[in-house]
Amino acid sequence: FAPWDDPDERPLIEFRGVSKRFGDFTAIDDLTLNIFEREFFALLGPSGCGKTTMMRMLAGFESVTEGHIWLGGQDIIDIPPNKRPVNMMFQNYALFPHLSIWENIAFGLKREGRPKDEIAARVDEMLRLTRLGRFAKRKPHQISGGQRQRVALARSLAKAPKLLLLDEPLGALDRKLREETQFELMDIQEKTGTTFVIVTHDQEEAMTVASRIAVMDEGRLVQVATPDVIYEAPASVYVADFIGDVNIVEGRATPEGAGLRIDWAEGQAPIAARSDSAFARGQSCHFAIRPEKVTIDTERPDRPNAFRGKVIDIAYLGNISTYHVELAGGQMIKAQMVNARRLANRQITWDDEVWVGFTETAGVVLEG
Ligand code: ATP
Repeated sequence: FAPWDDPDERPLIEFRGVSKRFGDFTAIDDLTLNIFEREFFALLGPSGCGKTTMMRMLAGFESVTEGHIWLGGQDIIDIPPNKRPVNMMFQNYALFPHLSIWENIAFGLKREGRPKDEIAARVDEMLRLTRLGRFAKRKPHQISGGQRQRVALARSLAKAPKLLLLDEPLGALDRKLREETQFELMDIQEKTGTTFVIVTHDQEEAMTVASRIAVMDEGRLVQVATPDVIYEAPASVYVADFIGDVNIVEGRATPEGAGLRIDWAEGQAPIAARSDSAFARGQSCHFAIRPEKVTIDTERPDRPNAFRGKVIDIAYLGNISTYHVELAGGQMIKAQMVNARRLANRQITWDDEVWVGFTETAGVVLEG
């Protein structure tokens, strides 16, 4: 039954045709997915897409309506949560307020009746890993939010689970601390070699920490890939739009030479683009291009894909600036420039007539 001949190549986790229904509502729809050992895997999607349900089925807090979940070569759907080699770190950390940090981390090991010296060694190792040694004697209310987050992580890893589930683990932290903690999480994941599955609705977070991302929409997977592929080669308009900033225009694609001609707006020159997918003559499509791939010039650039427009807004964001350009037909295009490079363009300002453009390979042509 198992398609994995070589046990070394076998995924740690296999969702096989998994569905989850609450009454007549389908939260997860016939989903198949593999997650490999040592991966830092992110489930990403908007609120209600089914991320937490996936996580809860893995942990055993939620039953599976149809299909199977395999973990480490074993079908786990009938195994109770406490018997699974899985731990889950919750958003509110759920630390015991009356216990010290040391005791919080030791809690699970003590409950399992492990020998005292083994517990002490393991807790010390976890304290070192999460840089909490100095705080071992304090109570949770005597440390900061970021430190509490690390205690929760140390406690979840103390029993050396094969798999750690993290449900929006950084949701309670402010932006700067969140970014720092993301790098810490990556570091700890690498040092322990534990497989991490994180649930987040924050695409930047998923891009930062994860080795692979599954983008979900209404209980289905829309793309599973590395962060750079998700960003550079989104599989659909949904993914392109959900991840990062993007310009998307509707049009009709027609094969021309080695590429495609996209007729997209009345009175506007067609877009010349490349695509690995085949398009029929006049097939409807969307063309997606990231703002940082759009150039902005006062002189007409010497290549196809140059469109005349007027700067109607400039958003200065410190490291970059975003130019909002209105084309002759009223279409809006966003172009982004790194401010360090902007000096050459500093003459461009509001109401200026400019040319926006991009190379033939800068955008993605998507079906439908
Ligand atoms: P969020 O980011 O808001 O946590 P999510 O992607 O984690 O969202 P889930 O919590 O997995 O989404 O929920 C998926 C869908 O299933 C939602 O539409 C939700 O309303 C529904 N759902 C979840 N739990 C139940 C339940 N116990 N009974 C009925 N419907 C449920």
